[in-house]
Amino acid sequence: MKSTDITLIGSGTAATVTLIQLFQKLKNDPEKQPKPRILVIEKSEELWTGVPYGYRSSINSLIITSVHDFINEEEKPEFYSWFQGDLADWVPFYKKNGGEVAERWLQANLNWIETSQWEKIYIPRSIYGRYLKHKVNKLLEEGKKLNLADFSTIKAEVTDIKPLEDGNYEITVESQEGILSKLVTKKVVVATGSAPVRKICSLEDGPVLYINDIYEPSIDKNLETIRKTLNNTSVDKDRNILFIGSNASVIEMIYLMEGDSTLSRLINNITLVSPSGALPHPTAEETLSEHPLPNLDKLSTAGSYDIDSLVDAATEEIRLAMVGGAHMDYVATIIGTTLKMLESLSEDDQRAFIAIHAIRLRNQFRRAGSEYIRAVRIMENLNKLKILKGKFQKMVPSEHGVSLQYEAADSGSAITHPLAFPVVINCTGSDDLNISASRLLYNLINNKICRMNLSRKGIEVNEHFEAAPHLYIFGPLLGGNKNKLIHFWQLENAARLTGLSPHLADELLAN
Ligand SMILES: Cc1cc2nc3c(=O)[nH]c(=O)nc-3n(C[C@H](O)[C@H](O)[C@H](O)COP(=O)(O)OP(=O)(O)OC[C@H]3O[C@@H](n4cnc5c(N)ncnc54)[C@H](O)[C@@H]3O)c2cc1C
Repeated sequence: MKSTDITLIGSGTAATVTLIQLFQKLKNDPEKQPKPRILVIEKSEELWTGVPYGYRSSINSLIITSVHDFINEEEKPEFYSWFQGDLADWVPFYKKNGGEVAERWLQANLNWIETSQWEKIYIPRSIYGRYLKHKVNKLLEEGKKLNLADFSTIKAEVTDIKPLEDGNYEITVESQEGILSKLVTKKVVVATGSAPVRKICSLEDGPVLYINDIYEPSIDKNLETIRKTLNNTSVDKDRNILFIGSNASVIEMIYLMEGDSTLSRLINNITLVSPSGALPHPTAEETLSEHPLPNLDKLSTAGSYDIDSLVDAATEEIRLAMVGGAHMDYVATIIGTTLKMLESLSEDDQRAFIAIHAIRLRNQFRRAGSEYIRAVRIMENLNKLKILKGKFQKMVPSEHGVSLQYEAADSGSAITHPLAFPVVINCTGSDDLNISASRLLYNLINNKICRMNLSRKGIEVNEHFEAAPHLYIFGPLLGGNKNKLIHFWQLENAARLTGLSPHLADELLAN
């Protein structure tokens, strides 16, 4: 049976930035003995890019903040200089593979890249994937030459992890051909990304194209199937697409659909139904000189408040910060003040804030760059986009697909939408971990090896990232934790993962 010291499960950003740190630390300590045996197990076709930065996203999918906010502060000089140096290779490659959307993006952004106006640029996520691959492959090559570690990868899905009596872990992997095998490791990192999306219906075999997860098998393949389905829909007015939920993928899909003129012409209507009835705000470009906090000030002056009144006050302030676009400097003041005021509440309240309330607040200041917002406006102006505020109830099969039944937020009444939808796309959130479609997460929770934290979408860890001795969690599954090191509202953020990765690497290299 294969035996290793450190096993990373997944090879997305979380695992990749950790691996980079491991090798950088090993480079600084070349005499370290014995050489660690490091293994990465990844189930998909590609290493080092994960879901957002590789083939499962579109080459044209953009980041949701400017690149200035996206890249970790310490990494900026290295990334910017690599990016500018790579332009001669990347621009022709991008033009060739990104089509109309790429042409338009380059026209708007190339000059800003050359003149380093990073606050204005929302890069295609694929560039970051290209950077990560370049960086980690270079380090791995050096590591091999210098014999820093015994490094290997396996393409397979991890389905289970079990503690052994000697303190090691037994990992079960399943190959693409369905062959099961086991290996043993001293330390294991679960870096498998966000929990899989919740399935909202089982329409796969019906008269409708139901896409449960737009990144599976990939956005490009799904766009192709959508195009075919709409082409096969004989009546123009029935060429409709229904989005259920309004997570970040919706605006990404609208951008990609609008940018593809053939597809955009084909679409009669895109309808989106979600409880918030809102897409991300445009990011405001101006910074405000004042950040009034009337509701938080009132609570503070009154001197007594509980978690609910604090969250309500913060909600009201965020509403002010969203007037005329998302003013993130103002949001930062609101968050800072709210966290300060939270300190006088109980430890339980503080945990509940991080795991539950903060997610509600965060949804209020979702934002996107001008390219994404422009695509939404164009589709709205063409009368091709309709956003419904309400709760999805069910889909009823109809002659040309399905019709939507939802509960309208304003009246509470059940409404059957008049359009037929041959395409339905699920953009809701993920399932609770105890019922997750990931066999690994399901087993970890139900076999009581790890515990869900209060958010139910994240795993409880200590300040060493451990869910159990030497079983580490890294990436979005850390969300909802509150301890000395990990206490962020959201860990689905590349810059934060990069910032935390040296700490995890230290834990993994410690004897
Ligand atoms: C679509 C999308 C867009 C995003 N946009 C931004 C953005 O603009 N800005 C920002 O800061 N952050 C963004 N994020 C958030 C953040 O950057 C990601 O969440 C981050 O990449 C997390 O990396 P990860 O390695 O934990 O997860 P992933 O990138 O999901 O990687 C996990 C990897 O684990 C593999 N895996 C899963 N289960 C198993 C298993 N059982 N066995 C073996 N392998 C397994 C998967 O195939 C995958 O490759 C985005 C996230 C997504 C999903």
